[in-house]
Amino acid sequence: MSVQNQHVDVLVIGAGPTGSTAALHAAESGFETLLIDAAEFPRDKTCGDGLTPRAVNQLQKLGLADEVTSSHRNRGLKLHGYGGSVTAPWPEGHYGTVGSAMPRTLFDALLVAAAVQRGVQLWEGATATGVEFDGARLDRVRISVAGREVEVTAKYVLVADGVRSTFGKLLGRRWHRGEVYGIAARSYCSSTRSDDEWMHSHVELRDADDVVQPGYGWIFPLGNGDVNLGLGALSTEERPAKINTKKLLHFYADQQRTDWGLGQPREVASALLPMGGAVSNVAGRNWMLLGDAAACVNALNGEGIDYGMETAEMAVNLLDAGSGRDFTLLWPEVLRAHYGEAFLLARTAARLLTYPAFLPLVGPLGLRGPVGATLMPAAARLMGNLITDADRDLMARLWRTAGRVVSGVRKDSPLWDATPV
Ligand SMILES: Cc1cc2nc3c(=O)[nH]c(=O)nc-3n(C[C@H](O)[C@H](O)[C@H](O)COP(=O)(O)OP(=O)(O)OC[C@H]3O[C@@H](n4cnc5c(N)ncnc54)[C@H](O)[C@@H]3O)c2cc1C
Repeated sequence: MSVQNQHVDVLVIGAGPTGSTAALHAAESGFETLLIDAAEFPRDKTCGDGLTPRAVNQLQKLGLADEVTSSHRNRGLKLHGYGGSVTAPWPEGHYGTVGSAMPRTLFDALLVAAAVQRGVQLWEGATATGVEFDGARLDRVRISVAGREVEVTAKYVLVADGVRSTFGKLLGRRWHRGEVYGIAARSYCSSTRSDDEWMHSHVELRDADDVVQPGYGWIFPLGNGDVNLGLGALSTEERPAKINTKKLLHFYADQQRTDWGLGQPREVASALLPMGGAVSNVAGRNWMLLGDAAACVNALNGEGIDYGMETAEMAVNLLDAGSGRDFTLLWPEVLRAHYGEAFLLARTAARLLTYPAFLPLVGPLGLRGPVGATLMPAAARLMGNLITDADRDLMARLWRTAGRVVSGVRKDSPLWDATPV
C-alpha cells in the first residue's frame, strides 16, 4: 500500500458494501479510484446479514452473486406471532427469487477484494479526518493512515462512512432524531437448523414482563452451522423504545432455543439505525453521501445493504453522465425520485408501530386466518423491499397510491433536503 499525497478521479470514503460497490462501478467506468476505510479487512459490522433478492440483483451486476449464493440461499420470509405463521416466498419479478445471508465479515471482505481486483486502490486503517473547500468544491481530504497525515485531492468524493457518518457530519450532514429510528442487536448462535431455507421473523416480540415491544426478532440461517439471531425495535424522540436490546436478545434466544437447537448467543453487538432518508445535506458541488450515511434504510425492516449498493450504482451513473454537474440539489432529487414515496410511507407505518397499543391490535388479525393468508405475503413483499415502479399488480398499485397520499400529507417531513448548516 503506497500512502502519499495524491490526486484521483474518485475518492470513496468507507469500504462497507456501499463504498466497495461504488468503487467497483467507478473503476469499471474508467475512473482512477481510491477506496479508504478506517478498519482493516476482514472486519465485522453489526448486522442481520440478510440479503434480499434486491441485494442479490446488485451482486449479479458486479458478477459476485454466485460466490455469495453458493454458500447459502433462502427462498423468502416466514413471519410468526400472535398464534399464527405465514410463509411468503420471494415473489417472481424484477429482482428474481433468490435471497441469501452471509456474515458481514466475509461479505464485506469479498466486495473489497473484488474492488481491488478490478483496479481500485485500497487504503485500510485509513481514516478521513478533515476537509478543505475551494469555494463550494470539496477540494482536499485529510487522511490519517499508517501514523501519518496525508492529503488526497479528488474530482469527486463519494462518502459511504456508515450510520454515524462522522465524515459526513464535517460536510454538514444532519440526522433528524424526531423521525422514527431503529435500535437493534444481533448475535451468532450455533443451530441445528442453520441450513433452513427461510428467513424467519417473529413479530410478536415480548419482553420478560410479557409486554409486546414495537419491533421484531429475526433468525436468519447462514448455512455454516450458525444462525444470525437478533432483534430491532422502533423508536421516536417522543416514544423511545425502553428496552435493553442485548438483554432482550438473550431472552428471545431462550424462547427459540428448543425450536432451533440453539447454542448460546455469541458476539452480541448493538447499533442505532437512522432510517428512511431522515437526514439533510447529503450532497454538495462534487460530493454525495451514499447508503447508511444517507439513511437509506427501510424503516419497516432495517435492511440497507440493497439500498446502499443501489445508491452506489446511481451515484457513479451521475459521474458517468459528465463532469461539471453540481450534485447539491441533483443527488437529493435522484434519491427522492427513487425512494421518496416508499421511504416516507414506511417511516409513517413504522411510526404507527411505536404506539404500544397498535401491534397487539393488528398482529392477531394479520397473522391468523384468511386475512393473514392474504395480507402477510404482501407485507413480506414490502418488508423485503421487493416492489418496483415496474410492478403493475394490485398490491404494488396500492403501495404507490398510499406513498403518494402520505407524501402529500407529510410534505414537511425531512427527506434528504438541503438545509443551511
Ligand atoms: C443490528 C442490525 C441489523 C441489520 N440487518 C440487516 C440485514 O439483515 N440486511 C440488510 O440489508 N441490512 C441490515 N442492516 C443495515 C446494514 O447493516 C446497513 O444498511 C449496511 O451496513 C450499510 O452499508 P454501508 O456500506 O453504507 O455502511 P457500513 O457497512 O457501516 O460501512 C461503513 C464503513 O465506513 C468506514 N468508515 C467510517 N468512518 C470512516 C472514516 N472517517 N474514514 C474512513 N472510513 C470510515 C467504517 O469503518 C465502515 O467499514 C442492519 C443493521 C443493524 C444495525
